Amino acid sequence: MKPAGPVIGVLALQGDVPEHLRALEEAGARAVPVRRPEELHQLDGLVIPGGESTTLWRLSVAFDMLEPLRKLIASGLPAFGSCAGMIMLADRLADGVTGQLTFGGIDMTVRRNAFGRQVDSFESDITLSGLGTDDTGPLRAVFIRAPWVEQNGENVAILGTEERTGRIVAVRQGQLLATAFHPELTPDRRIHELFVDIVKDNT
Ligand code: GLN
Repeated sequence: MKPAGPVIGVLALQGDVPEHLRALEEAGARAVPVRRPEELHQLDGLVIPGGESTTLWRLSVAFDMLEPLRKLIASGLPAFGSCAGMIMLADRLADGVTGQLTFGGIDMTVRRNAFGRQVDSFESDITLSGLGTDDTGPLRAVFIRAPWVEQNGENVAILGTEERTGRIVAVRQGQLLATAFHPELTPDRRIHELFVDIVKDNT
């Protein structure tokens, strides 16, 4: 019998939770929505979905999740954040609202809504490195009021840049992964598969 996959939580306070749950299942994980601190101890990994980072911040404070998640991520829980989730994993923000807090974990400065108004939403083919698969073809990436990585520490590996702007849009620091785009919205599962592999290697 095939061993059951790792248990990966999707932070279900706000954002595109069902899409991540489905993508994780397709990538071989057991995916569960989480919204309370007592649900966190069962997890091998965590996904922070796209949505709105200011709302994720406020709701995580209201649901007593901010401090527990900060601690878990700092102590090595693998995490993957897409778009607003990337913002939540940043140690530093540019263009955050006053007082806006993140879970942190990745030594980077992320600029919110960085791609500007004319291109609030767009799609772009991204060539990614470090996917750990033979399929190195371009990945169709969906950007929705997306951030970019403005500065990254030396331990942060750049996995991909957006071609038109040359901006960093996919990074990895150890067991932490972040994309400015939404791989949960397209059928290509390589990002979720990479994250499931990271989680497996960690357990
Ligand atoms: N602009 C949003 C924010 O600041 C992110 C958008 C998204 O997740 N699609 O959180």
